Amino acid sequence: MQTMDSFNFADKKAFVRVDFNVPLDENFNITDDTRIRAAVPTLKKILKDGGSVIIGSHLGRPKGSTDKFSLKHILPRVSELLGVDVQFADDCIGEETETKVAALRAGEALLLENLRFYAEEEGKPRLSADATEEETAKAKKEVKESQKEFTKQLASYADVYVNDAFGTAHRAHASTALIAEHFDSEHKLFGYLLQNEITAVEKVMKDTARPFTAIMGGSKVSSKIEIIKNLLDKVDNLILAGGMTYTFAKASGGNIGNSIVEDDKLELAKELVEMAKEKGVNLVLATDAKIADDFSNDANTKFASVKDIPEGWEGLDIGAESEKAFTEIIKNSKTILWNGPVGVFEFENFEKGSRSVSDAIVAATKNGAFSLVGGGDSVACVNKFGHANEVSYVSTGGGALLEMIEGKELPGIKAIRGY
Ligand code: AMP
Repeated sequence: MQTMDSFNFADKKAFVRVDFNVPLDENFNITDDTRIRAAVPTLKKILKDGGSVIIGSHLGRPKGSTDKFSLKHILPRVSELLGVDVQFADDCIGEETETKVAALRAGEALLLENLRFYAEEEGKPRLSADATEEETAKAKKEVKESQKEFTKQLASYADVYVNDAFGTAHRAHASTALIAEHFDSEHKLFGYLLQNEITAVEKVMKDTARPFTAIMGGSKVSSKIEIIKNLLDKVDNLILAGGMTYTFAKASGGNIGNSIVEDDKLELAKELVEMAKEKGVNLVLATDAKIADDFSNDANTKFASVKDIPEGWEGLDIGAESEKAFTEIIKNSKTILWNGPVGVFEFENFEKGSRSVSDAIVAATKNGAFSLVGGGDSVACVNKFGHANEVSYVSTGGGALLEMIEGKELPGIKAIRGY
């Protein structure tokens, strides 16, 4: 299989699918350009080789073509970061775009308008809320048919297809997966970013140095069930913390006061504890909490056992005993996966637990462990604590990363390497 380094892009046109779905303010200023910067090494390598790039991306969730979601707003920043005057095609398909693509010379770049202006990109029809079942079925069939033409047109622009959009690798869309069918195995490859993400997850999930510890936090157990189940087959230690602590504490008969809880998941919590026992996994839950009399940074606080929280109080962070237990395990690990804060880290008064987890991961990494931090909020944590460069890898993917950890095959990856 070709890689970014093995492929010589000289005189080749490359269609590069990137994830430029960046946040914009009301004046269309980019408020965080991380995703654009993440694709720069791939785009620059192609241009440096003497190739040209056709850049495809989505932005937001448009229901058709609208100025609000136009990629023209980000064009100046893309040009600045690439160091070339990037051209713009104000449609991603059509004759004018074809002409612009045909005129592209070595070292030139063309940014296409938002791929999701066409329903064909996602292959989902845009129906009115009162559409009948029959209309829905007909529209679905039609969009699947026209998706083939749309995909073929995108593919026709280029000699080689590069996917560097990890954020959408779990979607079987026209430009993220289906397009790859139009290129043989020597002419489709992963961009640097996507390759790095795959390598990092595989180092954790397949090529694991032991002991392997996963720390799962966040607010709810329900959104993490599949991941927890899959991790139980892989990890030595599973630390479950954050809001889900209280579903476990209540399931084992504790009083959790007003802490966040999922009452319909109490049985599941018991099952997960049993499963961990059967599989010989050391399941570690928080034992103490910093509790508050209001969900606010200025609330009154005190410390309590997670199973003995008074009415009117809720657990918003872990306590010193849990911090110590988590730190000990993390520091002795050789592979670490962190997804989700262990407290409401957005409030300064409840960030200490997440900070201690982050500190321990940094210490373990210095000691030779491989650490992967991923999933929106834990990434925000390491950024807040200034640790992003002190862990082994910070993933850019939300849903895509979680699906990989769940053990699912990602269409965007499979379309290129076949599995
Ligand atoms: P998730 O999207 O499920 O990963 O949840 C992340 C959110 O969980 C963050 O915004 C945290 O503030 C929140 N969180 C962590 N611990 C708690 C807790 N003890 N009570 C309520 N929310 C929490």
